[in-house]
Amino acid sequence: MLKNQNTNFINAPNQVREYKSGNDSVRISSLGGFGDVTQNMFVYEFIPNGDLAKSQIIIVDCGVGFPEEDAFGVDLQIPDTHYLQDKKDRILGIFITHGHEDHIGAVRFILPILGQNIPVYAPKLAAAFIEARLGEVQIRANLQVYDETTLPITKGPFIIDPIRVTHSIPDTFHFAITTPMGIFYHGSDFKFDLFPLDGKGADYQKIARVGQTGKVIALMSDSLGADKEGWSPSESSIAQNFKQEIVSAKGRVFVTSISSNIVRWTQAIEYGKSVGRKIVIVGFSVDRAIKIAKDLGYLTLNDTDIVPVERVKNFNENKLLFLVAGFAGQPDSALSKMIMGKHKIKVKAGDKVIFSSPDYIPGTTSNIYNMIDLLSKMGAEVVYGEKEELHVSGHGYQKEHALLINLLKPKFLLPIGGNYRHLKDYQQMSKKLGYTEEQVILPDFDASATFHSNGAVDTNFHISIRKVLIDGFGVGDVGTTVLRDRKTLAEDGMFSVVLLIEKESGKLVKAPVVLSRGFVFMKENTELIDFLKLEITNKFNQATSSPANMDFIREEIQAFLEEIIYKKTGRQPMVLPLVIEV
Ligand SMILES: [Zn+2]
Repeated sequence: MLKNQNTNFINAPNQVREYKSGNDSVRISSLGGFGDVTQNMFVYEFIPNGDLAKSQIIIVDCGVGFPEEDAFGVDLQIPDTHYLQDKKDRILGIFITHGHEDHIGAVRFILPILGQNIPVYAPKLAAAFIEARLGEVQIRANLQVYDETTLPITKGPFIIDPIRVTHSIPDTFHFAITTPMGIFYHGSDFKFDLFPLDGKGADYQKIARVGQTGKVIALMSDSLGADKEGWSPSESSIAQNFKQEIVSAKGRVFVTSISSNIVRWTQAIEYGKSVGRKIVIVGFSVDRAIKIAKDLGYLTLNDTDIVPVERVKNFNENKLLFLVAGFAGQPDSALSKMIMGKHKIKVKAGDKVIFSSPDYIPGTTSNIYNMIDLLSKMGAEVVYGEKEELHVSGHGYQKEHALLINLLKPKFLLPIGGNYRHLKDYQQMSKKLGYTEEQVILPDFDASATFHSNGAVDTNFHISIRKVLIDGFGVGDVGTTVLRDRKTLAEDGMFSVVLLIEKESGKLVKAPVVLSRGFVFMKENTELIDFLKLEITNKFNQATSSPANMDFIREEIQAFLEEIIYKKTGRQPMVLPLVIEV
């Protein structure tokens, strides 16, 4: 943990930082594109005296996106880092706001591209999630944990002050980013929950102190809830209904939510235990999140309260509460498998399934409603959604945005984290606060916002943003493919290799990285894995060209791996080459 050495103006308002104006500028770019809810990755670039070659950079967040509904959970999209290709040595740090996948999920893909030495600053819970994921791909990172006592983090021309806010995951922060020109406030996903269940509210006083400097140039603000009037309901407001659904159930109860929603799991466990139910954890991601949360002290769960899936038969059905992964219908998740009859646990009439989860994340909505339909057909009672008050949004509504704007008094507003309609709603809302249309910056998808020291701002600079897909399955009939893949996964597991390829030269940027699940124990089979890595490199050298043909390479590697793994082990795991252009 980094410790605060100096007092700073945000903690001690008397001490004023100095701002000098020259011919400098600060350029903010979104590598996932503006107007996108997911794949958050923002570049803050300080350009001294108009000299681009001397710019210095910090990055905020590094998340994945979900490109297509039916491919969700297997195919991922990551931000396009081409813009940083020739600026790697000027990246001073990556700053993570919170532990949601669309803010941290791309770290394991992007760190090898940008350089593993770049320090990654993250709050405790997010850092633990990142570390667990990096462990899977055997990547070591320079991870630094911060919290509100860690002040300030100085990186070249930037001074970064984390500010605690509330959201649907513990340990969520905003950043006041001080530059020689003034302050940029990065207001990523947040709500102002006045009655948070974990007792850790937003640091309103600190936000106000940032505003009191009168130096806030721009507020980059979450805007997903800007289409809703009023104030978002508190997490505690669903407690009554959520509890009622659990305690009134006659048979088995299944609860699904975002795996990282520690507060929701805590509630479910408490309510289940209050009526004598034992807890059954179903699915890798929930199991991991709960273990991490337990280790860090965010959640209490005694071993005697837990029943392993194998032993549920020994208990009465009304004595069991299942916490299930896969609320969004990812094809390889526990809930999907249960619905498709591919899991030890089968859903049947008399069961109750509670979706305490959002249904608005782009790329997930139709999957969720398909599952609800299927579960209903199977005779289960399904309860879900914000209308039934079983979920509250983690994103603030108009009044919360208005409050943040009033506390900070920024010169400009730059809404992020929403689709275009949310950005427009944010603009409308801020008009009521006296902001002109020119003060609300809505850059094109691939444009940057450049703030100049003379007070001007422009969005003329464009960067190239291509879709970077982490692709495994070919195109075709997804239904059949997914079913076949499920069967393979259940029987023989998965073997995946990540190849980072430079398109022009057709060369590997880094030795192949191997991941596997349910196929062999990686630690005990280092010999086999090393052999496969070597063979993959040889095969790659045969298949590549300059420029590289990504589809061809993927097909070649896939066919080759299927054959050689079968020859060596007699097994046929799902083979998933991840071919990434860098
Ligand atoms: Zn979030």
